[in-house]
Amino acid sequence: MKIITRDDILKKYKPLIIAGPCAVEVREQLRTIAKALNEMGVKILRCQLFKPRTDPDSFQGIGLKGLPWIREVKKEFSMLVAMEITDKDQIKPTKGIVDILWVGARNMQNYELLKAIGQDERPVILKRGLIATVDEWVKAGKYIGLDRVIFCERGIRSGADSMRFTLDLNGALVAKFDHQMPVIIDPSHTAGRSDLVPYLAYAGMAAGMDGIVVEVHNQPEKALSDASQQITPEVFKKVLNEVNTLYKLRRQKEAPSAIPAFSVQEAHLKKKHPLKTLLFLAVKNRVGILKDILTVFADFDINLSKLESHPGDSKNWDYYFEVEVECEATEPRLIQALKILKELCQQIKIIGEN
Ligand code: PEP
Ligand code: MN
Repeated sequence: MKIITRDDILKKYKPLIIAGPCAVEVREQLRTIAKALNEMGVKILRCQLFKPRTDPDSFQGIGLKGLPWIREVKKEFSMLVAMEITDKDQIKPTKGIVDILWVGARNMQNYELLKAIGQDERPVILKRGLIATVDEWVKAGKYIGLDRVIFCERGIRSGADSMRFTLDLNGALVAKFDHQMPVIIDPSHTAGRSDLVPYLAYAGMAAGMDGIVVEVHNQPEKALSDASQQITPEVFKKVLNEVNTLYKLRRQKEAPSAIPAFSVQEAHLKKKHPLKTLLFLAVKNRVGILKDILTVFADFDINLSKLESHPGDSKNWDYYFEVEVECEATEPRLIQALKILKELCQQIKIIGEN
């Protein structure tokens, strides 16, 4: 099986939508849910065979005997499969079937497991531990290899007792902005109840997250685990429509958080502040350098209004680009983009705003 990399996934599936039951229970349940999700265009299925549960007397997952069923649905519906690994011995048997490995919240600091997963090549969803700081979360990702990790904010423990956990969008944004990591959110485990799931999903999308992972079950009330938070395929279809709309709106606007509700404020800000920033980027001449630079701007949704290349007159660099971008010099997305561009450029200067 050809390995699909983390970056291939992030490029192809925008926003990144992962859905499926809390746990694989029986063959027909998995197929029914996969079929419904496939019909609405979902291409990544969550397929958990091992369930780390608080109560040892509760359903623990069906284990590796479910792998052939996963293989069947994957083939029938051409879907990618994401599966939680709770022990290093599960890594090898999933090769050729599971496309995306997954570390659950409880194992975020199981460093031997992270190291073992680090030996594999597949992309990994790394959930945030129940009380983990963003720093601990990102460092856990380093055990695997940050270029393979998709971070998943699934709610943390806080003083608030109205929900199962508290969705920490602050922390998710810090992981994105300060660490340049892709972050998805799991509204299901945060909420613990199905009626809140859609709204938390929307909040995540409006805040600029890369996607969502949602628990969907054909008969939530009969689910063997997390029955109270799973939503039906019918409800998920509506959530998906809204999520896609929010994502499109976000792409149309410049700022990741700019959905229409904020547009009045945004227009006000635009009047008062300069809109464009002129940059000077000095680079070594090599094949693909311009493409790499443009990709960074595109990744941060930064539009270019001018791009000129000039041969350099210094010994240290061969070319310089004058780039005018349609955002202010102080905008976090430009600051983040420049952090990455620093790796590609000999020199970067902000010439001014206009
Ligand atoms: C899950 O997503 O299946 C799960 C168990 O969630 P968490 O690890 O976030 O508790
Ligand atoms: Mn669950």
